[in-house]
Amino acid sequence: MTSFTAVQTSFGGSDPLRVLREVFGYDHFRGPQQAIVHHVIAGGSGLVLMPTGGGKSLCYQVPALCREGLAVVVSPLIALMDDQVQSLRQAGVRAAALHSGLAAEASSALWRNLLRDELDLLYVSPERLLNGGLLERLQERPLALFAIDEAHCVSQWGHDFRPEYLQLEALALRFPQVPRLALTATADPRTRSEIIQRLALEQGRVFLASFDRPNIRYLLRPKLEAKEQLLAFLEEFRGDAGIVYARSRSRVDRFAALLQASGHDAVAYHAGMDAGQRSRALSRFRNDSGVVVVATIAFGMGIDKPDVRFVAHLDLPKSLEAYYQETGRGGRDGLPATAWMVHGPGDVPQLRRFIEDSDAEAAQKRIEHGKLDALLGFTEAPGCRRQVLLAHLGEVLADPCGNCDRCLEPQVLEDRTVAAQKALSAVFRTGQRFGAAHLTDVLLGADTARVRSLGHQDLSVYGVGKELAREQWRTLLRQLTSQGWLEPVPDGRGGLRWGEETRVRALLRGELTLELPATPARQERRPAIAAAAGAYAEAEPELVAALKTWRREQALEQGVPPYVVFHDRTLVELAARRPAELNDLAQVSGIGAAKLERYGEAVLAVIKGWGAQT
Ligand code: ADP
Ligand code: ZN
Repeated sequence: MTSFTAVQTSFGGSDPLRVLREVFGYDHFRGPQQAIVHHVIAGGSGLVLMPTGGGKSLCYQVPALCREGLAVVVSPLIALMDDQVQSLRQAGVRAAALHSGLAAEASSALWRNLLRDELDLLYVSPERLLNGGLLERLQERPLALFAIDEAHCVSQWGHDFRPEYLQLEALALRFPQVPRLALTATADPRTRSEIIQRLALEQGRVFLASFDRPNIRYLLRPKLEAKEQLLAFLEEFRGDAGIVYARSRSRVDRFAALLQASGHDAVAYHAGMDAGQRSRALSRFRNDSGVVVVATIAFGMGIDKPDVRFVAHLDLPKSLEAYYQETGRGGRDGLPATAWMVHGPGDVPQLRRFIEDSDAEAAQKRIEHGKLDALLGFTEAPGCRRQVLLAHLGEVLADPCGNCDRCLEPQVLEDRTVAAQKALSAVFRTGQRFGAAHLTDVLLGADTARVRSLGHQDLSVYGVGKELAREQWRTLLRQLTSQGWLEPVPDGRGGLRWGEETRVRALLRGELTLELPATPARQERRPAIAAAAGAYAEAEPELVAALKTWRREQALEQGVPPYVVFHDRTLVELAARRPAELNDLAQVSGIGAAKLERYGEAVLAVIKGWGAQT
């Protein structure tokens, strides 16, 4: 924890915009923040629904500093609390966290501060809030507000249910005069009404922000050779922090090793590792720059690292909501981030089996199958990905987004009748039981042991497909499958057989033609940081690097993650504007009064030193 001593006294009675500027260094409120802040300062309660990265924290942090008394923030995870407290202290705010991980000394200092009204914000886990006499102590003090973060934990239907959260309904009874603000990134209407009911927020207001994350680029790819595809994708992101999701522990271990062998700074994370290994992985991800975590979905809530530049899915997630939440961990700082996923029909049977093999009741299983169908619908729907995704969350996006694979790489249709005829013949001649790999070998005329042992080199279709590359045949076979010309052999071993026979025969006779999207052989290009906003175009990469080096030293010295010192966004803006004086520095987003005083001269020196070299 930082040794920085807060000098700020209370901001009681201050104007929220002044607090936003002087403490947090931001010029404007974002989206519904302003309305929320005013509502709470006036004593109102409510529920805030905002996507990850939307800026929920300021919704209670600003009122906490404007209202008299202590603000109590209920948060489910220690890592989350410590992060917030460190960031607030850097901004000169008197904040502390009370949780089971706290050393005795720190704990008694905290209680002392609390009883002397020397704290602006107290983060606390629900257990600690409700047990051990804290509520009684709080009842004797002036309270600014209660904020209930990750409020969906109160919902039994959500996947992060925490029984302790249910007891929070006591707050409404014991502190009827204190505003209560619940916050969550869950968009699901059912969870929403459950939060309102359980936290007794019926009298409060609901603030719903758009769930669009415009800086996230959605790129979906047919799954061919996931290994090579991932490595090719990551080439564009060397040195960036990111998350790679895989379905099983063994796949996580395998892919983490693969990335390490390819020179990436990768760590594995899954529930099969012991607690020590997991927390080491987490702390490397948070504190070092450019670490890639390969993880199962066990790696999730509480990851509020702002500069995650990509989230890659090697396997289909469980549902479209899960996909939205997982990809939402990228780009919280508002800079461009990429959500990349390889997917194919091969993932589906296993997911269906997971659902069938679970001990859920039949009705629940039907819901899970339905969620999977919605996800598959998203992967297969023509047109803009973001429009489909937002429609699922109940929002209408009027125009295609221009920042997804469908918008960026419009599909051109090609007549593929002849190639389809060859593929369908190959399926038939080999006996309607082989998978895509072997069929491709036959079409390409490959001399494999399997081909020879089966005598397939003597078939009329052997080697008739040399005009297409292996990858193109795989794509075609997948397209034929997704359109029903072929279907998986039901034993689930990946073999393919003909779909509806009359239709297939008509195609083979040339009575039907087949147009399919052309497979672009295009390289995936990294969205240049320049695309983010005009100012970023002018950021000198070497100066950004120099500022990052300086930031790393500061962070190491204080034992905090680098983003607690300054966000990437601030460094990029510094490198674009290259301020020469303290006054100019104060204009940069993310530099409030405390950080200006603390780091201003040093930052100017880095910029000046860089200028002298060039
Ligand atoms: P959430 O909790 O909703 O995921 P955070 O509160 O962590 O989001 O905010 C996400 C990022 O946006 C943080 O880096 C925060 O500093 C930044 N941010 C929030 N509000 C503003 C604002 N009004 N102006 C500029 N940056 C903001
Ligand atoms: Zn789009």
